[in-house]
Amino acid sequence: DLINARDAALRARAEKVVPSGMWGHLHAVKLPEAYPQFFARGEGGVVWDVDGNRYVDFMCSWGPNLLGHHHPEVEEAAERQRRLGDCLNGPGEVMVELAEMLVDTIAHADWALFQKNGTDATTTCVTVARAATAKRKVLVAKGAYHGAVPWCSPSLVGVTAEDRAHLIYYIFNDIESLENAVKEAGDDMAAIVVSAYRHDLGFDQELPTEDFAKAARRLADSKNAALILDEVRAGFRLYTAGSWEPLGVRPDLSAWSKAIANGYALSAVTGSDWLRKAASQVFVTGSFWAGAVAMAAALATLKVVRRDDVPAKVSYLGQMLRDGLETRSRQFGVSIRQSGPAQMPTVLFDDDADFAKGSAFCRAALAKGVYFHPKHNMFLCASHTEADIAEALVAAEHGFAAVSASGDSS
Ligand code: PMP
Repeated sequence: DLINARDAALRARAEKVVPSGMWGHLHAVKLPEAYPQFFARGEGGVVWDVDGNRYVDFMCSWGPNLLGHHHPEVEEAAERQRRLGDCLNGPGEVMVELAEMLVDTIAHADWALFQKNGTDATTTCVTVARAATAKRKVLVAKGAYHGAVPWCSPSLVGVTAEDRAHLIYYIFNDIESLENAVKEAGDDMAAIVVSAYRHDLGFDQELPTEDFAKAARRLADSKNAALILDEVRAGFRLYTAGSWEPLGVRPDLSAWSKAIANGYALSAVTGSDWLRKAASQVFVTGSFWAGAVAMAAALATLKVVRRDDVPAKVSYLGQMLRDGLETRSRQFGVSIRQSGPAQMPTVLFDDDADFAKGSAFCRAALAKGVYFHPKHNMFLCASHTEADIAEALVAAEHGFAAVSASGDSS
């Protein structure tokens, strides 16, 4: 069984000096019992908690770990820049190189701006769209996550109705609901915000249909509004040039973060030429937004992503995990639903409204050294190995056995 004395002691200390011990999505209270709150280190696709327990990790820092912890090329580039300087009076040369790299890599991109978090990027997209169009209404999918500030936070605590006064909601992949939202916006529509795919928490994930993607493009054009693609979670895992490229739909603005610098803090907005002027007029900035180390890390990360076709590699590993889980769930007579791209799998259990089965599965797998999530989409990285997948499948057998033993495994 897991030893977690050090984790427990840190939680007790944190309770006294950090409200509720931890904030936001990384709060371990949202995970099944025995999941650690505190981590000591990571290597490749493996992490260790503060009590020394080792886990093959299928959350990958909730997305940022794309190439593996301590990827040598990324670390070398970051270290070289760190020796020169990070937070200076202005950006380093590397900012121009990185912007050139993004414009060269991302199909729709004519320019790039940099920030720190995904929320900075999505919020900047909305601001630029409103500046360019002089319109107010922004269409967002119901249940979609775009960040943690008042206009988009999933919680209404501390948020006023006015913060969301100009949002209109539609249902992802539902063209009619999008058309209705466009009608409601009338002549005041600045943007349609779409996620790369529907990755809502606790639901079966949905890839965008080609018809929906094309309708979003057409409807944005019909109002001279911007189509904003939130690539924060999926970017560089699905398709290097942009997640909607295979659908033949290009956005006007994209928000990137998470995987862009393999764990270093960076986000980016890429945009089309017609938004360049507005992007130069809005006041978006931050003390750390020009930090050169993260940009050097991003440049190195993108070189590897392009050279090694990282999305294809991660997809291959994800499919191996998915096929193995399918076979084993059948062997144990447990019905699961696997959804989302193979690189970002979501595994849900039938008849499991309270996620009790998902939690039982995850707890049993965790005890065997594999870190899954019971309701959020997971992430694979390019440093996972076939041996890691094999280890995960052995742990999954313990997970399915636990679900099966809990009785109702319909
Ligand atoms: N958009 C999406 C799709 C995300 O998944 C996230 C982060 N989970 C964000 C925006 C916000 O990013 P950050 O947490 O870096 O502010």
